[in-house]
Amino acid sequence: MRAATLLAAGLSGALGCADRDAAPAPVAQTRWCDLVPRKEFQPLRQVPVRSPWFLVYAVDSGVFAITEPWQFQEVISYLIVGTERALLFDTGLGIDSMSVAVGELTTLPVSVLNSHTHYDHVGGNAEFADILARDTPYTAANSRGFPHRELAGEVGPDALCRALPAGFDSAAFHTRPWTPTGRVADGTRIELGGRTIEVLAVPGHTPDAVALLDRAAGLLWTGDSFYAAPIWLYVPETDLDAYVSSVDRMAALVPSLRMLLGAHNVAVSAPGQLLALGDAIRSVRAGRVPGVDRSGDRVEFSFSGFSLLLAKPLLSGRHGDRTKGGSGLTAWTR
Ligand SMILES: [Zn+2]
Repeated sequence: MRAATLLAAGLSGALGCADRDAAPAPVAQTRWCDLVPRKEFQPLRQVPVRSPWFLVYAVDSGVFAITEPWQFQEVISYLIVGTERALLFDTGLGIDSMSVAVGELTTLPVSVLNSHTHYDHVGGNAEFADILARDTPYTAANSRGFPHRELAGEVGPDALCRALPAGFDSAAFHTRPWTPTGRVADGTRIELGGRTIEVLAVPGHTPDAVALLDRAAGLLWTGDSFYAAPIWLYVPETDLDAYVSSVDRMAALVPSLRMLLGAHNVAVSAPGQLLALGDAIRSVRAGRVPGVDRSGDRVEFSFSGFSLLLAKPLLSGRHGDRTKGGSGLTAWTR
């Protein structure tokens, strides 16, 4: 996401064009739209697909990052290909057809698994027949789909850098319901043929967050638990205690990892960033680092390469109902 707070994070000179409710913009600034596609993708081989909405990059052997750089969330889904089947880790915004793009990348059977079920990661789920999911009340609630009234602002002019795909009706944008066809839990191993993917339950950002580990390749897909941008940890379903435990668990893997693959803005990050993240969240909760107030009762704490965007109620120990679902855009009620 995450353009909205880039300037405060010190990550670039940008202040997002989607920055509807943050601090006033400084005069000289780079528009967020000038930063996409981000320069971090330049070393990667781009893989052509017909849709201009997706930019696809080969990030490692049999691993494709499917990016949507023209909407401010800059969400990234991943296709992980074995010799017998493929796993699609997230299905993006649902603005253009993820299944068509995936069909251009592999002819193998594809199973979907979501890093978590916020709206920007499940948008294409309904296009797929085989969907693995966590068995949580939160996941079940979110599988019913998110209505247009919650998502309308996500496809408004301020949220976009490019025209929407031909035929896309922004006045009706919503996510369709989807039905899990299989379950995963912590420790589930998914065999793709010549490649084993392990599921790690990493609750915190949401109750149903998972990371994926390919031990043989040294790859960890972190979902929204870590990416190199402002990390959103402020919705009512966020659980900071669980988040710290999850970060610690992922950080313990660092010596065996070659790269982290995150779900927003930039695909590839150095594994050591997980150690910095653990230090960062602890410092924030201990009150050792100053934050900058943001709208909506939020506070942003900046670190090297990322920032943490928290809500004051969460910092003071409150939390919301973690069973009833949430799009990722839910505001706190007083
Ligand atoms: Zn996200």
